[in-house]
Amino acid sequence: MAYKLIDNYREQGARKKLVALLKERGIADEKVLAAIGKVPRHYFFDETFWNQAYKDIAFPIGEGQTISQPYTVAYQTELLHVRKGNKVLEIGTGSGYQTCILVELGAKVYTIERQEKLYERTKEVLPKMGYQPEFFLGDGSLGIPEHAPYDQILVTAGAPVVPEVLLKQLKIGGILVIPVGDSNEQKMVTVLRVSETEYEKIVLDTFRFVPLVGDQAW
Ligand code: SAM
Repeated sequence: MAYKLIDNYREQGARKKLVALLKERGIADEKVLAAIGKVPRHYFFDETFWNQAYKDIAFPIGEGQTISQPYTVAYQTELLHVRKGNKVLEIGTGSGYQTCILVELGAKVYTIERQEKLYERTKEVLPKMGYQPEFFLGDGSLGIPEHAPYDQILVTAGAPVVPEVLLKQLKIGGILVIPVGDSNEQKMVTVLRVSETEYEKIVLDTFRFVPLVGDQAW
């Protein structure tokens, strides 16, 4: 895929409209909206498809995977309550779009992808865009224990259950956001680590993600 890093008025205008649409759909966190308004989503598309980049839709990125729908990215990000300097683990780098949003919020991001081609692509493209997360290739269903604990863990693929191993990698007060369900639909779940042994779980809206594939997943 050929990437062009050119941000024209047309794309900037489309991005503003997308932010307005997400606001209408209920995204209220101004910092999240500002990050969406800043990251050039068309950079993740071949130029032929730039007219699709600011629609509120998921889109194929190769390897049978998708760049998430902007509403889904905003929804998950809002639930994380990221503050400047937070240490965030993102499981499922995909295109790297969500990764850029987290970096825009001032997080130190550790992002892991199991598909080598996607990992190689994001590792090349994101630094050219000015985003410098830490990239990992491997099974994110196990987390990245060597860099734990995290303030937030975000899973961007649908899991059959909440992997216990991820809960153990949260700081006390840390939040896990993960879609949980079967292959057709998942409920967005947040888990707050209240203490060494206690967790508070909240089950929210229904989404449809590609599967989380791995040792603690499908
Ligand atoms: N948020 C990403 C974006 O906007 O581009 C989209 C992520 S896509 C919906 C989910 C990603 O999770 C896919 O790239 C998939 O390969 C990856 N994935 C699935 N299972 C994984 C695992 N066990 N470890 C790491 N990545 C995984």
